[in-house]
Amino acid sequence: MTSEERTCPYIAPAGHHYVAEVDPQWVVLTDEDRPPCRAGAGPRLPACGRPSVAALHHHVERGSAGTGSQDLWWAYCENHLYGHWIDDGQVYVWMLRPVPTPPVEQRSWAGWSNAAGDAWDRNASGVWQRRPAREQP
Ligand SMILES: [Zn+2]
Repeated sequence: MTSEERTCPYIAPAGHHYVAEVDPQWVVLTDEDRPPCRAGAGPRLPACGRPSVAALHHHVERGSAGTGSQDLWWAYCENHLYGHWIDDGQVYVWMLRPVPTPPVEQRSWAGWSNAAGDAWDRNASGVWQRRPAREQP
């Protein structure tokens, strides 16, 4: 399934929508030798251990030995991508984005008319104009 065909499982708040975007923090792993999935790994817990398919970048400002910053990659299998998916060699995720407001010239405005036969429409520049008589119903 491509990213365009996916249906977002989340409900966006008003004025927002979810957009499938490449997550720059993740990379697809294609190396022959890949680390096993680290999901679930803890002091007393075994890691998932399945073959990894993607890795998440972690930038640590101070290394565990107190030796400056570190760039770590955490590898995960396809069952542990935390809402991400792989499409065309890249890792995607649903990003919450505001629904763009169309510029004034692309909005459609409802006209109005009154009993006296006046009819007005808002034109592409946002200016209200009396509707030409020949177009009035
Ligand atoms: Zn896993």
